[in-house]
Amino acid sequence: VKKNGKNGYRLYSRELNEQLREKMELEADLRRAFEREEFMLCYQPQIRSSDSKMIGIEALVRWKHATRGIVSPGVFIPIAEETGLIHELGSWVLREACRQMKEWHTAGGPLIPVSVNLSSQQFHQENLAEFIISILDETGLPPQYLELEITESMMMDPTVSTGILHSLTEHGIRISLDDFGTGYSSLSYLKHLPIQKLKIDRSFIRDIASNANDKAIVATIIAMAQHLNMDVVAEGIETQEQLDILTESDCRKIQGYFYSRPLPAWDVEQGFFVPQRE
Ligand code: C2E
Ligand code: CA
Ligand code: CA
Ligand code: CA
Repeated sequence: VKKNGKNGYRLYSRELNEQLREKMELEADLRRAFEREEFMLCYQPQIRSSDSKMIGIEALVRWKHATRGIVSPGVFIPIAEETGLIHELGSWVLREACRQMKEWHTAGGPLIPVSVNLSSQQFHQENLAEFIISILDETGLPPQYLELEITESMMMDPTVSTGILHSLTEHGIRISLDDFGTGYSSLSYLKHLPIQKLKIDRSFIRDIASNANDKAIVATIIAMAQHLNMDVVAEGIETQEQLDILTESDCRKIQGYFYSRPLPAWDVEQGFFVPQRE
């Protein structure tokens, strides 16, 4: 480093300090965020394109920071994972998502499942399955209305026990494989893991209208899912053109800005209870 001269080094270390300071600040704020009740969930509908019906909804956490505004989970989930705060955050998300869905069911909303993202760290928690089942008991949400989203890379982690997945599905909870196709993994685990749904990662959808390879990969994933008797959802649909290509490839379950951005609970309710004009 010194060979680059004093200036180069100083610049480098100042930048690094800045990043470090920023991270430590967020970390301290994150610890206080629970007391201040700064977390909220947004919900993004999953739509069946043939009749535009909502068939599911994914809970996505948001942090309303006092001075920074809304902080994206892409920024604070990694910090929560590093600091161990992910356990408290993950528990809060699960409980809140189940509570909200039960409330909507009770109020006459659609009987659809809520999807909750899990972090690999949560699999290190002892009794994770029992804990999740206790949240269902506590909130009164029947297990078939909870879907847990995991990623391929989580399943490649040898410390992640697949036994947990089996106990969860034995209780009727659904498992969905998120970001499918980005995990560089062998597909053999699809044979022995209890997975009901594949979510095709947005990176394959983005250029699907112009990139023949992406289109071929997506068509292959859809065909494979059908052969394996799994549901398949395409993520990140933004345009009519992308939707048309997916329909052509026989994928009718869609999540993306084309239908809806993730919305706060009160906006979701508008869609449930205000009669739809067609
Ligand atoms: P993810 O699970 O893959 O969630 C989908 C992300 O794509 C969301 O970003 C969503 O807002 C965004 N998205 C949906 N449709 C579109 C679209 O049409 N176009 C584009 N450009 N983006 C779209 P978000 O909410 O910022 O979440 C980012 C990631 O943070 C999530 O990716 C997930 O990995 C993680 N995350 C979010 N909430 C939680 C949580 O409660 N727990 C854990 N462990 N992770 C979470
Ligand atoms: Ca997800
Ligand atoms: Ca995803
Ligand atoms: Ca993702």
